[in-house]
Amino acid sequence: MSGYERELEHFMDGLRKLNPHEDEFHQAVEEVASSVMPWYLQHEDFRKAQILERLTEPDRIVIFRVSWETDHGEIRANRAWRVQFNHSLGPYKGGMRFDPSVTQSTLKFLAFEQIFKNSLTGLPMGGAKGGSNFNPKGKSEREVMRFCQSLMTELHRHIGEDVDVPAGDIGVGAREISYLFGQYMRLENRWSGVLTGKGLASGGSAIRTEATGYGCVYFCEHVLNEHGEGLEGKLVSISGSGNVALYAAQKAMIKRAKVVTMSDSAGFVWIPAGMQQEHWEFLKDLKENRRGRIGEMADRFDGVDYYDGKKPWHVECDVAMPCATQNELDGEDAKALVGHGVLAVCEGANMPTTREAAEVFRKHGVLHVPGKASNAGGVAVSGLEQSQNAMRVSWSREKVDHRLQAIMTEIHDRCVEFGKRNGRVNYMDGANLAGFEKVAKAMLAYGVV
Ligand code: NDP
Repeated sequence: MSGYERELEHFMDGLRKLNPHEDEFHQAVEEVASSVMPWYLQHEDFRKAQILERLTEPDRIVIFRVSWETDHGEIRANRAWRVQFNHSLGPYKGGMRFDPSVTQSTLKFLAFEQIFKNSLTGLPMGGAKGGSNFNPKGKSEREVMRFCQSLMTELHRHIGEDVDVPAGDIGVGAREISYLFGQYMRLENRWSGVLTGKGLASGGSAIRTEATGYGCVYFCEHVLNEHGEGLEGKLVSISGSGNVALYAAQKAMIKRAKVVTMSDSAGFVWIPAGMQQEHWEFLKDLKENRRGRIGEMADRFDGVDYYDGKKPWHVECDVAMPCATQNELDGEDAKALVGHGVLAVCEGANMPTTREAAEVFRKHGVLHVPGKASNAGGVAVSGLEQSQNAMRVSWSREKVDHRLQAIMTEIHDRCVEFGKRNGRVNYMDGANLAGFEKVAKAMLAYGVV
């Protein structure tokens, strides 16, 4: 075992003891620590200041109860969290997730990832994440509204446009953000850019809805171009059919790639001839308005096959874009993708590949881009939404899209700068190192705080 591996193991042992039963958090930290440890060991000043140790301990975690009433007058209580991980680079920033699977470990991993993602965007944003084990599925509009109002009644004490600016994530879209924002204004009696992902009528930014998916495709195009390939004509396999997946699919189609799969938590659809505009519009309406299951696509269209309970990674593709949730692509899935000769994996979701899958991609030289780089477009446009709110202006779609493309190009450049070896880019190391170095320098400059 090399000195670097010993140090990594020692560090991870300590982290696991300090944070028992938080597997997702351990996984996210290990991914970053594996990339940065050689650099860290060479920089005595950062080691002496215990930057890595301090950076893996959240600034604070707020845990609270959310009590609310169903339409039938029954009382419910959920648990909610806000993990404010690190604000060295700017006010805390990160989404809120509503899903029954949410635990403190989930939110710690997401907040930790967010620190480096936000650092990569070059915008002044720290890292945070929040959410609740509330399940919005099957709830009425009124129930979702009452839940959001109750949650904000506590959360408003801990956030602010210069303190912490939450946004959406799984289960939290424009509807939930509007209910949260409405309650914030009622409590604080002022309008401010305290939340992002707002509707256009209430101070939201153009392109915010599309930003994560579009940004992922812009990034993917850079990855392919950097390695002598292009996106046009490529078979692209996408998972999920939520916010990120839908707009990744739309932009991939605009770039003349062939989108061959989409999925939801029940199964996936295979469209061998490639997704068409009518498929996309049907799916968007199905998910955003009717909140239905993706299998309905196969009933509606010829040439669309549905596979119940299966994941999309076993069909042939050149590019995989996991856009659903964490650890949705495991070692076996990765082997199947490699078997089909996949060139690149660009993560739209946060940490969608397991450790084993990442190792399979590394071994086989697949261009594997971690979400903190390829899905940073969402938070980047959230940052632009904050700027527009602060200046009381609204930029056009063209202007925001132009800024988004420029930011994705800069992130790609930074990954190349930090991760290129022998003509090929290791995007995992490049993103982790570039994101980490900036935060570490800021922390060192602040002294022992
Ligand atoms: P949505 O809630 O809009 O969509 C989530 C999608 O993933 C749905 O299609 C859902 O299926 C599917 N899904 C959820 N859980 C599972 C599961 N266990 N197995 C398979 N599929 C599942 O969320 P977003 O699109 O906003 O977020 C997707 C991912 O992208 C998350 O990892 C999120 O953290 C990340 N992300 C999102 C950003 C954003 O701007 N929204 C920004 C950066 C990252 P179903 O319809 O059945 O629930």
